[in-house]
Amino acid sequence: MHDKELYQQILGIGKPWFVEAVELDKDREEIQIKVGLKGSVVPCCPVCEKAMSGYDSRKRSWRHLDTCQYTTIITADVPRGTCQEHGVRQIGVPWAERGSQFTALFERLAIDWLTEASQTAVARRLDLSWREVHGIMKRAVARGLLRRDFHDLELIGVDEKAFKKGHNYFTLVTNLKEGAVLHVGEERTTKALEDFYDALSDEERGEIRAVAMDMWPAYITATENKVPDAKIVFDKFHVVKHVVDAVDKVRRKENKALRKQGDDRLVGTKYDWLTNPERMKNQQKREFRALRDSSLKTARAWAIKETLGDLWTYSYGAAARSFFSRWYGWARRSRLEPVKKAAKTVKNHLNNILTYLKFPITNAMSEGINSKVQWIKYTARGFRNPENFKTAILFHCGKLQLYPHQMS
Ligand SMILES: [Zn+2]
Repeated sequence: MHDKELYQQILGIGKPWFVEAVELDKDREEIQIKVGLKGSVVPCCPVCEKAMSGYDSRKRSWRHLDTCQYTTIITADVPRGTCQEHGVRQIGVPWAERGSQFTALFERLAIDWLTEASQTAVARRLDLSWREVHGIMKRAVARGLLRRDFHDLELIGVDEKAFKKGHNYFTLVTNLKEGAVLHVGEERTTKALEDFYDALSDEERGEIRAVAMDMWPAYITATENKVPDAKIVFDKFHVVKHVVDAVDKVRRKENKALRKQGDDRLVGTKYDWLTNPERMKNQQKREFRALRDSSLKTARAWAIKETLGDLWTYSYGAAARSFFSRWYGWARRSRLEPVKKAAKTVKNHLNNILTYLKFPITNAMSEGINSKVQWIKYTARGFRNPENFKTAILFHCGKLQLYPHQMS
């Protein structure tokens, strides 16, 4: 008698449900809690909540939080009835969500663990199959997406992420103010981004004032089509990257030419030209200074690249434009083909680069998200398909309300 009351209390089970029996199966290291219904209950449809005509009952079981290391299972005969609209349905129970084999408290525990450890580790610790763990995660995300309402959408970022190196791209839309992933689209197509814009109401779309992105035509098209009033801000790191790559091309070519003449000054310097000199150790700094002050082509390309960074320090459009035209002239006269080409790309996109002066946003603002996505990829050995990757990103980076409804 005592143990029944105890379980009734800790499970938070109330009328008409009650704990009928508690049994300990020592061999299986399991505690079985049988829950029954007191009195007659009019079964209500779980979908429309209308009374159903009586039908029968089916035995079901749910895994609950362990009791002193014993696996604890709740079982109950749950009535089914016939709803005029929805057919034969089983009534809902207060300790679990529909369709789950776990109690709400157990799912909550699993969700807490999943936010801190890999799916494989959680499966091992809670003695669940990988499939069960993933099921909990998927339901949590579905629940969170249903509860979510979009707000504060003024500044968003669109970025691409590779699922596996070199292929399977995803489109990630981020709320830059909140640092939350709003949408994960497959591929990096116009449609992948338009799907996000289409999911918003007119009012929500109207909130978007600026979108940070790479100079990627598909994202530009989607944004111009769906949110024509929003400003596009080309991500400054992506823009600079074009010139950084040009410096590297110049270095490779020059290195080859020098080595033919027995000059190996540029050998092994690739990363020196990519590293911020301020982060270099003293010895490295001294050696690099000699290189960059030399008359090498690579040094010239590097100086052009470094100077471009100043573009983002201006406050006024006119001043920024006159700086840029000086810079562009210098790059054009550099006689370095890769640099000239990169400068042309930057020039063609200048209008939507200078929008930064009004909306200083970049995708690197959501650095926390980038490192989480890296972690997800790292712990993703069990992922068989992109859908699972998508679920994991929304689970960890969506800032969603993931828990099931609390037991009453
Ligand atoms: Zn119904």
